[in-house]
Amino acid sequence: LPPGTPDIVIARSVQPQSILLLAQQRFGLPGDSLIPFGHYKAKLNMAHVDTSARAARGKLVMVTAITPTPAGEGKTTTSVGLNDGFNCLGVQSSVCLREPSLGPCFGMKGGAAGGGRAQVIPMEDINLHFNGDFHAITTAHNLLASILDNHMHWGNEVGLDPRHVYWRRVMDLTDRSLRYMVSGLGGTAHGTPRETGFDITVASEIMAILCLADGLPDLRQRLGNIIVGRRPDMSPVTARDLGVEGALTVLLKEALLPNLVQSLEHNPVFIHGGPFANIAHGCNSVTATRAALALNDVVVTEAGFGADLGAEKFIDIKCRQTGLRPDAAVLVCTVRALKMQGGVSRKDLATPDLHSLRAGAVNLERHIRNLRRFGLVPVVCINRFPTDSDEELALIQSISAEWGVRAVTATHWAMGGEGATELAQAVLDQMDEGTPEVQLLYEDDIPLAEKIETIATRIYDAASVDFTPAAKRQLEEYEQLGFGHLPVCIAKTQYSFSADPSLRGAPSGHVLPVREVRLSAGAGFVVAVCGDIMTMPGLPRRPAALDISLDENDQVTGLA
Ligand code: ADP
Ligand code: MG
Repeated sequence: LPPGTPDIVIARSVQPQSILLLAQQRFGLPGDSLIPFGHYKAKLNMAHVDTSARAARGKLVMVTAITPTPAGEGKTTTSVGLNDGFNCLGVQSSVCLREPSLGPCFGMKGGAAGGGRAQVIPMEDINLHFNGDFHAITTAHNLLASILDNHMHWGNEVGLDPRHVYWRRVMDLTDRSLRYMVSGLGGTAHGTPRETGFDITVASEIMAILCLADGLPDLRQRLGNIIVGRRPDMSPVTARDLGVEGALTVLLKEALLPNLVQSLEHNPVFIHGGPFANIAHGCNSVTATRAALALNDVVVTEAGFGADLGAEKFIDIKCRQTGLRPDAAVLVCTVRALKMQGGVSRKDLATPDLHSLRAGAVNLERHIRNLRRFGLVPVVCINRFPTDSDEELALIQSISAEWGVRAVTATHWAMGGEGATELAQAVLDQMDEGTPEVQLLYEDDIPLAEKIETIATRIYDAASVDFTPAAKRQLEEYEQLGFGHLPVCIAKTQYSFSADPSLRGAPSGHVLPVREVRLSAGAGFVVAVCGDIMTMPGLPRRPAALDISLDENDQVTGLA
């Protein structure tokens, strides 16, 4: 295939293997342990997978990144390529990824199943509809909304205050005109008017819940804990108070099962769950991670955004809640992102510039230091782009060596797994040096405000946190309600260590503004909103939908 071949064309140039055969050959799983969706996608019936604490489990490799450019630095691509690299070395390995949201595919983002020769197939199916999980989550979320409105219509026995109903509706599209609305208009026959709106499905608390639940009983418990609104005395009303957690669990029963697909090199890939990385924790489901660990010697998984957000939430939320711990970390960096951190503007990123690269390397250094604070010595993966010069790659190598970490240039995007065997070997070597003692950043029992301050000062190098009076009050109230033990989930820009996306490099001494806090009692965290957070994105002036179509052979064109 010539250089510049679109991802979708590369993806389609490979005929996938039967997923039942692949599961049998790789994992020794009988056919009836899978629920096939066509020939190339399946859900895994967990009855055949021993995820108990006593069972053998593989090693978990967390892939995270430096502060990204808006184009993304290749975490997904590297996760897929690294998994192919492990398999090239003969290591039994799988990768766990998030499910892409359908809506943004029609806006500006391309697909989210890797890129180049490091992709997951069938690419169109994974990006559009997939195995119905998002449909199930959307339906469960909206069922709770309809039960809630119906409850108020028929007398409002639990005493919800319509001015304090937080539960909105969701859909898996980006549509700015649905952000704010009033429902229940038209008179007494049509419900109780309340201010509401739509979020995108990946922003639903039910998405975060599905990704953190470790089985159906836990799922049901968490769904019941969702706080949908308040009474006039401000006491919380939960989904359990409305009696609906059983029905929600029924709708999500199959969606909780991990999805199995394959890479271009026919290596197993789990793609399951896709929570937002800002108002939620941004990693794939616990069920998929546990299933993959039970079936493999090594499991690669991606933590969303840069390491300040993605890795911190992976450890302080997902690992804290589940007992999972990474055995190694890969820190993806690119020449272009480091140059951007060094002050180069977006349009000049393809021009070699050693001076700016060196200036921007403070960003890499800060992320390495932070991962060390969690007890992890990362392997730096330099994800090679066609525009990188040899001198630039050598400079990152020598800077990483100064800081005492392994750094490997990987070419999986251009070459597939063969381009990532050196990286895979470096990760194996790192793990041979011993199991890291992974530390959570803060204890459960310190006050919520102090948790936010700990993340701000230790990870972002902020001087202090500026809480609005309302946010401060809310945090105290959450503690009084018995939620003080929860971890916090910071919603801030991924483009800077600070809350200001234009502050590049490794800023310190800044003030982290916490404008608002929200309680996700079902997911089990408190969200601290530091900046503008969009839970229903809009479409750009020229959306990708205008280029997406079917060709004369009924093949999808224009996706990614
Ligand atoms: P992330 O997961 O960090 O957001 P992705 O892996 O989705 O990033 O990659 C973002 C985009 O960059 C994709 O379109 C991908 O094809 C492209 N990309 C990733 N790595 C490379 C590379 N080494 N060379 C060229 N393009 C790349
Ligand atoms: Mg990604």
